[in-house]
Amino acid sequence: MNFQEVQSLFPSEDGNEERRKQLLGFVEKMIQTIDSLKDPQRATLGPMRERSDDFYKQLIRTSKVPEQGIGMQQMLEELLQLVPGHPYHTRNFVTNVLPMASIPGILGALLTTLLNGNNLWDVYGPAGAEAEVRVIAMMSKLVGYDEKQSWGYTTWGGQGAVFSGLRLAIAKQFPHAKEKGIPNNLYCFASENAHYSLLKSVEATGIGSDHLVLVRTQKDHSMDVADLQAKMEAVIQKGGIPVYVVATTGTTDSFGIDDIQAIKDVCDELTMKYGLKPVHIHADSALGGFYSFFNHYDFTANPLKLEEEVNDGLLHIRERMQHLHLADSLCFDFQKFGQTPYLSSLFLVKNGKDLGLLDLNEFETPYVGNRGYGSYHTGYTLECSRMSSSLAIYAALLAFGIEGYQQILANYVRVNLAFRKKLLAAIPNVAITNEANIGPITTFRFYPGTVEWAEEISGKASRAQIERNNAWNKRLFERLGEHRDQVFFGDTTKQCLVDIIDSSERYPIAVVKFFSISPYTTVESVDPILAFLKEQVEQYINERMKVESHV
Ligand SMILES: *Cc1c(COP(=O)(O)O)cnc(C)c1O
Repeated sequence: MNFQEVQSLFPSEDGNEERRKQLLGFVEKMIQTIDSLKDPQRATLGPMRERSDDFYKQLIRTSKVPEQGIGMQQMLEELLQLVPGHPYHTRNFVTNVLPMASIPGILGALLTTLLNGNNLWDVYGPAGAEAEVRVIAMMSKLVGYDEKQSWGYTTWGGQGAVFSGLRLAIAKQFPHAKEKGIPNNLYCFASENAHYSLLKSVEATGIGSDHLVLVRTQKDHSMDVADLQAKMEAVIQKGGIPVYVVATTGTTDSFGIDDIQAIKDVCDELTMKYGLKPVHIHADSALGGFYSFFNHYDFTANPLKLEEEVNDGLLHIRERMQHLHLADSLCFDFQKFGQTPYLSSLFLVKNGKDLGLLDLNEFETPYVGNRGYGSYHTGYTLECSRMSSSLAIYAALLAFGIEGYQQILANYVRVNLAFRKKLLAAIPNVAITNEANIGPITTFRFYPGTVEWAEEISGKASRAQIERNNAWNKRLFERLGEHRDQVFFGDTTKQCLVDIIDSSERYPIAVVKFFSISPYTTVESVDPILAFLKEQVEQYINERMKVESHV
């Protein structure tokens, strides 16, 4: 490969048409290949490809950098061989919050890549800086933060936001922890159903997971605030300092929504009583925060003409979600309900000035920022170089608008309401295990005999009983997983913890998950999905009967 050929691997320098067409041709070929494999009746692009046990070992053995570049055509062929069998977000894709990237999201991400600016500094990435400031303001206004006070940045996922919130929580109470290290008596709190992001964060900050206190949850899978109060008080009385409470507003498995208002009241009351500094509350709204798009919806006039039960369901969600602005920080995972590609998460801070506590000194950043030119330097993020994922967010917010988001978010609720009704009618011995939580997710659990959910959730079942029911469901997960190319259901081995009669430990509940996430999953898609499920369950029961009659 000569040097000119190397140059031809880049977009043109002068904007000539020939090279533009060449690039577009490659893009078209990619889309064509994907399109040729699409089938609305499957959840994969063409048949799924099973991976043998030594699949990855073989890749390791056979992969090495070619001596000569293989040429664009062949490179593309190789690349596109990764596509067949890939999961795809058709109407039958109901596994988890893994959305299809929308066209505005894709275009925003493409512009990010084409400009390839560095979002670290506006001198290097002015487009990213401008889009980032705009989306921070847009989302601040939406949740009810004062956009003149709030600030934020795009970061590495909902996980990154939980971590950034904790960094801030520590810095607010211990501004010198950056230099001196953290005290050894700090504590963090979240519900048992919170995302494991906080676990990783307490590990990484050196607080230690023994200092992560898990709070019990209620039947609606939200935090039991009385238990929070008791556990915080116990920590304080032993000389511990609560620094961080994560309120999950929309748990990833059950869509339980913690009551931020009540959590804030408890925190304020305790810190006043004991003369402590305020505890930083982070709303882990990565998933559910998008329902803030209904904060100003007129549910009485109902301009979108939503069905009564959908309207009521959304109103129910709003009752909790409208308090998001009470949190000191929060997050929007745009790669979830924001309909943008990975990775585009927005971390927002109510009092933006606090981020100054995390900023680097001028002395420490000799080659960026602090010049007469450029005025946007994100020295407070944990990342150094940053991708401008705000461009995808900006594009999606403009293209969908509040109403577009309301439509798609309402449809998730509509589909789930239909699914719940029809599931209970179609299949015996099944219980919906997040009945109180209207939203985009339905969790459900099968029983070998009669339904025991009421007993289980009230803490009246034994360990053996729950173990048997969990085993029954886990074997069914395996079966559903094998056929995920047809309908791709989700599952979780720990939707929630429940009390049991024969021990003081709480015990996990395994459930199947229906997560309506595709824009193509509508009420009409529910019957075929249920027909598939019913058939799988019946075959499963037959198989089990055979196995058990052999024993
Ligand atoms: C998805 C999710 C996370 C993690 O977000 P990533 O973007 O995967 O890092 C954290 N918390 C909640 C509630 C989530 O739903």
